Amino acid sequence: MALPFYIMAENDDRELLKIVEDSFSFLESLSGISIPRKVFGSYFCKDDYGSIDWYIKESTDYNPYAKKKQVNAANLFNLFGKEPWQEQNRHYELMVLNNDLFVKNTRFIFGLTCKKIDFNGKLKDDLLCEQIYGRAENKVIRERKPYISGIVQSAYRIKNWYGEEWKPAFKTMILHELGHFYGLAAESNPNMLKPGDRRTKNMLDVWHCNNRDCIMEQVNIAGRLDLLEKTKYLNKHNSKLFCEYDLEALKKNICKLYSSRNGIKILN
Ligand SMILES: [Zn+2]
Ligand SMILES: [Zn+2]
Repeated sequence: MALPFYIMAENDDRELLKIVEDSFSFLESLSGISIPRKVFGSYFCKDDYGSIDWYIKESTDYNPYAKKKQVNAANLFNLFGKEPWQEQNRHYELMVLNNDLFVKNTRFIFGLTCKKIDFNGKLKDDLLCEQIYGRAENKVIRERKPYISGIVQSAYRIKNWYGEEWKPAFKTMILHELGHFYGLAAESNPNMLKPGDRRTKNMLDVWHCNNRDCIMEQVNIAGRLDLLEKTKYLNKHNSKLFCEYDLEALKKNICKLYSSRNGIKILN
């Protein structure tokens, strides 16, 4: 049994939520499969884990590369894994923010995705397992923690860069990340760029598609289109947004995930 997506937007931003919803609907229309999801408000209670503002506050660090405070996306995933309701109500995460995001050693990132499906179509398990966290006073610290799949995206840079045109660009990005989540670019795609492939223009090209007509091509690096140019290009040339190989893998993977009977395994 696949898990539902829990969707949250900073300040309940309706424009962001609409783009997320349109992106899921688009994938449903491509695959013919309904994708379980639930939109949560940005505030549930004033306790820990009770609001998006709490997550943002807890995840914010000083980033020396940007010389300012930003939300650390890795911290967010760490908190997702510790959510008190993850044990009973396991889910995939989709959080969209207006705050700027980063991870260690970057100036900023658009977002971070922890895939549910590998490039070879293999489903990752939603294990809830005991993991060893560290050692203190010669004692091993163990904690029960689920494997978290999901997506965190920020609209901050896109709004700043593209002004009035930010919405279609943000949608392209959400669909690209959902593509990664569902196992793209796929190994069955001859245009998928593996490490060492001579067609790669930059290390950020790896695990992407080399086809200009495909939304899984990398953007915003030398030799590739800018995100907004890419969005306009796709709208003109490929209404399905994915290349034939990635589209086929996407349909197959979504079908496999949502018809899978594997429940959540709990290891004691
Ligand atoms: Zn990508
Ligand atoms: Zn492709």
